[in-house]
Amino acid sequence: MRPRILIVEDEPAIADTIQYALETDGCEPVVVNAGAPALERIARERIDLIVLDVGLPDINGFEVCKRIRQSTSVPIIFLTARGEEIDRVVGLEIGGDDYVVKPFSPRELAARVKAVLRRGQNGAQPSCAKTQAFEVNSDKRQIRYCNVPLDLSRYEYDILSTFIRHPGHVFTREQIMQMVWESPEASMDRTVDAHIKNIRAKLKAIKADPDPIVTHRGTGYALRENL
Ligand code: CA
Repeated sequence: MRPRILIVEDEPAIADTIQYALETDGCEPVVVNAGAPALERIARERIDLIVLDVGLPDINGFEVCKRIRQSTSVPIIFLTARGEEIDRVVGLEIGGDDYVVKPFSPRELAARVKAVLRRGQNGAQPSCAKTQAFEVNSDKRQIRYCNVPLDLSRYEYDILSTFIRHPGHVFTREQIMQMVWESPEASMDRTVDAHIKNIRAKLKAIKADPDPIVTHRGTGYALRENL
């Protein structure tokens, strides 16, 4: 069966070249030009991978990704504008699998698509993260710690699941807010700290030692490695 690739791109010339390259490579591309129709098709069709432009006319590509991740772990490759380093970081942290910087060669993108699809077939499901201590079920939005299911709020789930996907990676408070809050400007750093405190308390209730979340003073937080 040919992999069905959803291309979400509002610039027709770019969408066309991607479509052509993927067809040539044995894929079945489907093109939409905005976020809303993308979400509709994902809800009702089999899609094996999504190529997602960040700058869309209706819903920002990151927001589209967050909404997709509420229901499925289908691989996502972001198309980002040149030099927007923050976009690349945020894209990967909110659940993207890879990114390609514009302008790109269609052959390069087709090769990335193939690589991400292969990764998925090998059983490495990026959004089904697992360490020895933690297990994330992204379909149910549930995390088990030492085999005990945690009762987490929506934001606590988003923060902790991101940590588990990147053990040892230090996230700044700003990055944490961008990842999980719908309007980051409305929140304060202290809100991040409060959520971290709640998550710690819930983990501690299951296992007192060690604290799996490490505070990096003046920077942010990270999940302890080798848990
Ligand atoms: Ca665009």
